[in-house]
Parts: sequence; C-alpha cells; structure tokens
Amino acid sequence: MSHVLTLNAGSSSLKFGLFTTDQTPVAVATGLIDAIGGATSFRLEDAEGTVLSAGDMSTRDGATHASALSAALTELLALFPNSDIRAVGDRVVHGGQHHAEPVVLDEAGIAGLEALTPFAPLHQPHNLAGIRAAQSAFGQAVQIACFDTAFHRNHPFVNDTFAIPRRFYDKGVRRYGFHGLSYDYISGEMARIAPHLHAGRVVVAHLGNGASMCGMLSGRSMASTMGFSALDGLPMGTRSGQLDPGVMLYLLDQEGLSTSEVSDLLYKQSGLLGLSELSNDMRMLLTSDDAKAREAVEYFVFRIRRELGGLAAALQGLDALVFTGGIGENAREIRARVCAGMAWLGIELDEARNMANDTLISSDFSRTRVMVVPTNEELVIARAAVHLMNRV
Ligand code: ADP
Repeated sequence: MSHVLTLNAGSSSLKFGLFTTDQTPVAVATGLIDAIGGATSFRLEDAEGTVLSAGDMSTRDGATHASALSAALTELLALFPNSDIRAVGDRVVHGGQHHAEPVVLDEAGIAGLEALTPFAPLHQPHNLAGIRAAQSAFGQAVQIACFDTAFHRNHPFVNDTFAIPRRFYDKGVRRYGFHGLSYDYISGEMARIAPHLHAGRVVVAHLGNGASMCGMLSGRSMASTMGFSALDGLPMGTRSGQLDPGVMLYLLDQEGLSTSEVSDLLYKQSGLLGLSELSNDMRMLLTSDDAKAREAVEYFVFRIRRELGGLAAALQGLDALVFTGGIGENAREIRARVCAGMAWLGIELDEARNMANDTLISSDFSRTRVMVVPTNEELVIARAAVHLMNRV
C-alpha cells in the first residue's frame, strides 16, 4: 500500500507520521523519538492513539538523529510490512527569501538549504540530517521540503525589514517569521469552518512550547511576532522572546559571555523557565503558588496582549482571534486572561464556552470572534507531499 512519511526533526526529538496518499491524506501511525543523544525513547501510535510500539533506545540506537531514525523506521516498516513509501515530507525550519511554497528536493535543492544553515544554526542541521537519513532509507521516494518560513514570504516591506543598514536586508537579514505550517493549517481550517472570517482580519496565537502570533488578511500572513530567528516576539517555554539588542551587547561585553553561552541562555534558559526558575511547562506554572511562577505567566499573558494590539493595528482592525498550540488549545485560564478587558478590540469571551473548550468561545455579542482551532502541522506536510509527488 502506498504511503507518505512525514518527518519533523527538532534539536533533540524527531516526530514522524505515516499517511495514506489520498488527496486528503489520513494518518495511519504517528511516532515520536525523544531525547536523542541522551535517554532516548521511542513511541509509535496508531491514528486512535493506541500504542503500537514503545521502548528505550538510549544504549545504541538513540545516539544521533540518523541512528534513531533508522531504528524507528525499521520498527515502523516491521509493523507495516506492505507499506510502499512514495514520498517523504520533511519539515525544514528555514526556506530563505525565495521559498514561498513546499518544493521537491534534489541535490541542488538540499545544497541550497545547507547554505541557509547560518540563518538557523540550531535547527537547520537537524532538518538536513533527517532528510539525509530518509534519503538513505527510502532512496526511491520523492523528498519534499515544507518550510516554517514559507507562509510569511509575502510580508510587506515594513514587516519584513529591520532598520539597520540596507545591505543586511539584501544579505537576507529579514523578519522571516516561523510556525508557518501551523498558520497554513489554521488558515485552511478557517476557510473551511468560517469563510467569512477567513476573508477578513485574523490574528492567530500559536501558543506551545514555542510561541508566536500571526496577523492574516484574507488567509495570508501580513505580520508575525517572530522575526529573523525563532527567538523573537512572545516569551516561550525556554526562549526569551523580544529582547532589546542592547541586552545582548551587555551580556557579551560586560558579563563576558561567549556567543554560544548567550545562545544557550536565550534559547534554553529563558522564557517561562528563566522567569519562574521552576519550569517551562505551563501546566506546572498554572498550578504553582510560587510568586515567580505567577509572574512568569503574567509576563507571558501581558506580551500576548501587547502583540495582539500591535497586530490588530497592522491589520487595521480585527475580525477573529484564534488560539492554537498546546497552551492555546488547552489552557482555558490563559485564554481568559488574554481576552479580559479587550472589549475595546471587540472581544467578549463566553466563560462557559471557554471552559468547555468549544470552537467558538466568544459571546454572541462579541464583535470579534474568538476561536480555538487545534493545529495539525503533520497534515500540512502530508498534503504537500501527496500533491507534489503526483507532479514528479
Ligand atoms: P511544542 O511547541 O513543543 O509543539 P505544544 O504545542 O505541545 O509544544 O505545547 C506544549 C505546552 O502546552 C506546554 O507548556 C504545556 O504545559 C502546555 N499545555 C498542554 N496541555 C495543557 C493544559 N491542559 N493546560 C495548560 N497548558 C497545557
């Protein structure tokens, strides 16, 4: 039976999915390899969430992305022996200035993505390692790259540039924006379930361990809170979010930190974890009565509200606010706190709907609709893979 495989290689984890090749692909199985290079674990589930296989890979197979992936694929193919992988859809964090759509990869294409590594040094190499591993496992399959930056490629100049000398803009120092696969999915869902809102001004808050917001006009990205890197904008689980560049200079010049120490500080020790000194996990922070945990959540909510105002100004108004991501989809308290006192923006939450996690959580009197739409980045990759493999 023909299938497409989706691969989402992060810095220490690897998510993958096996999908049918129908025009609307259906997930057959999804897998997660966690803590690659450490106490690596492996888990494979069917579409209903039943565990098909799980185990510890730390001793031998979990040392690198390539070894972990190859061990996981062996397991996957043992469970689905008749599977014919026709295409592999790879999530790639950076597509540079030119990729506004998914592409079929050949050697020149892969080299082009390698050349973008300086723009995303912590993520691009892992994505490329995933591509290489899939190439060696499925030599015959079409390789397709889907970019986190692609959805944002048509930003107007003012949302694409920094006010530093222009030569840097020409060299690619721009506000790329990320989480594009999630926003692409939400845009498609809005077109399906609320076409009149999709045609208007929508802000999507993707609130997960990574977090960003996107302002959309007629389903297309106009502005994003993430910029040159996935560090900008909202505070995240362990990332700082927006930072005065002067702080960076201070850390380097006065505190004597090396660039890799600053990188580690801003990517891995900041955000909710850095502020709370407790956890990057929103569930834990919301149940803690520690003052620092409370302040970390307060800062998170405050920055979302600030960005919401800014994005609404960029869109010249707001028709809908959509929550997604692990926090956006589940944390009722965060949604309520983001929306509190936002009547000036036409937002009025319906408490019961919010508590019930309904799709529409604003009141019938709310001028701006507030919605909860679960994201599905893997499905966006699978759709692109099916679409492009039939064109090769
Ligand atoms: P990633 O960016 O790694 O994909 P997710 O979208 O899975 O992250 O989101 C993870 C975040 O969602 C964590 O901070 C987690 O605590 C939070 N989260 C998940 N479920 C809940 C819940 N029921 N209440 C509050 N926060 C939740």
